[in-house]
Amino acid sequence: MQSGQDGSSEALAAAMKRSGISSPLMEQIVRLSAFHTSPAPGILIGAFMVDWALELLGARPGTKLYGVCETPKCLPDALQVMAHCTTGNNRLRVVPIGKFAITLNAPSETESAEAVRVFVDLGKLKKYPTIDTWYANSPSYDKHAMKGKLQEEIFRAGRAILSSERVRVAVTKKKQWKSVTCPCCGETVPDYLAEGDTCGACGSMRYYERI
Ligand SMILES: [Zn+2]
Repeated sequence: MQSGQDGSSEALAAAMKRSGISSPLMEQIVRLSAFHTSPAPGILIGAFMVDWALELLGARPGTKLYGVCETPKCLPDALQVMAHCTTGNNRLRVVPIGKFAITLNAPSETESAEAVRVFVDLGKLKKYPTIDTWYANSPSYDKHAMKGKLQEEIFRAGRAILSSERVRVAVTKKKQWKSVTCPCCGETVPDYLAEGDTCGACGSMRYYERI
């Protein structure tokens, strides 16, 4: 695993220890970094976000949770590893809004659920100039020279750059569906995913051609 500032997982652990991060969270961050294949800044911030959201929800281990992520970058992995909301179990939704924010909620029998939303708070970033520069994608952020400082600031800040709010999210119920055969390729798809008569691969979602 590519890891801390000098490329080792020991360096990552040492940097976290210096900042007084709790052992359980340190373990999560190591697991998350391995899953993501690097301790990217967004992954580290994401770990603090999910950790806080879980605490705010008072989620017991094993509770099925539903997560929404407002960016496809880094954050989905934090929800997948730490809250077990995955693309495959259909409890993770990625909305490409482009904000570093997540919501998390417990199951609900009604049409909506109370959720917690945790987001990077721009006002709070001012105290952490390296994170602020990186987050703004500013040309003055020099990845090579500032990577270590950025990681140290992220660990030092922890939740201090985040804010949270209570929100309500819509609950999507499982759809009833039947299988339909595409006349174009002969393969089947659920009816609600068909595009008129054809499947998506023969329509707007075509992404390969046979060779
Ligand atoms: Zn087809």
